[in-house]
Amino acid sequence: MRVLITGAAGFLGSHLADRFLREGHSVVGLDNFLTGHPDNIAHLMGHERFSFLRHNISEYTYVAGPLDGVLHFASPASPVDYLEMPIQTLKVGSLGTHNALGIALAKRARFLLASTSEVYGDPLVHPQPESYWGNVNPIGPRGCYDEAKRFAEAITMAYQRAQGVDTRIVRIFNTYGPRMRPGDGRVVSNFIVQALRGEPLTLYGDGGQTRSFCYVDDEIDGIYRLFQSDQQEPVNIGNPVEFTVRQLAELVLELTGSTSTITSHPLPADDPKVRQPDITRARTLLGWEPRIPLREGLVRTIEYFRGLSGSARMQPPT
Ligand code: UDP
Repeated sequence: MRVLITGAAGFLGSHLADRFLREGHSVVGLDNFLTGHPDNIAHLMGHERFSFLRHNISEYTYVAGPLDGVLHFASPASPVDYLEMPIQTLKVGSLGTHNALGIALAKRARFLLASTSEVYGDPLVHPQPESYWGNVNPIGPRGCYDEAKRFAEAITMAYQRAQGVDTRIVRIFNTYGPRMRPGDGRVVSNFIVQALRGEPLTLYGDGGQTRSFCYVDDEIDGIYRLFQSDQQEPVNIGNPVEFTVRQLAELVLELTGSTSTITSHPLPADDPKVRQPDITRARTLLGWEPRIPLREGLVRTIEYFRGLSGSARMQPPT
């Protein structure tokens, strides 16, 4: 197969490119480096089955040659990023998804949309099955991301129904691991970077809000299986083991051996109070479930961030 991956220099996009190349396929990576980073794909430059286009998928896009798959992963995805870049976030979820679907239609390629647990908003159903329609504030600060992804799901289904494009939708829950941007503002990278520097860990709210953290290798395996499957309904891919954010802070302190303190900060507006995927669908239809427990995944992630120490990329977290 020859596949196009938008957002290929991002955290998930770059791991996905690695997986497709490892399976023997060819990858065209596309990224404009808005939140992705060249370091994430530096090891792929010169690979005979990898080519790269520096381009914004929200603008008209031409890709030469045949394609068997289009995987649309381009988007700011950290709350800090999409609060700073709400227009780009809305454009890549809407115009970018439209362009990516147009490419899939023209090439008769299978299309996979990277959607998100944010489509469930601050959920009133817990854990969240794919049948839950969500509780999203369209005009709140997270609306730019949540509604863009909800629109992206809607236009993906429209292309499937009206144009016959063979589509997949993955709803990605909190994922962590090597190649997260040190300053991207998400909780796992923030806590690890802060702990390694001996700075206080910034706990938002009382830390009683929950998240369920999936290690990147597990996440990529679930996405790869979904792409290969015939499942056209959305599928949650995430780790169903739920932790409070305070528990995460304590675990990071233990695993880094850091003497950092934990400081309280205001909870951001519309921050979901709970989040846990119901992965029954992924288990039964894809035979997938995560294998790497949080403790083990954090050890690997801490090792990655230790390796970045001293590099220009270790700017202070925002
Ligand atoms: N959070 C925190 N400290 C930080 C960054 C995030 O306590 O330095 C909290 C945040 O309020 C949220 C959770 O951690 O409840 C996960 O935040 P993240 O930005 O990683 O992603 P989200 O799941 O909200 O999209």
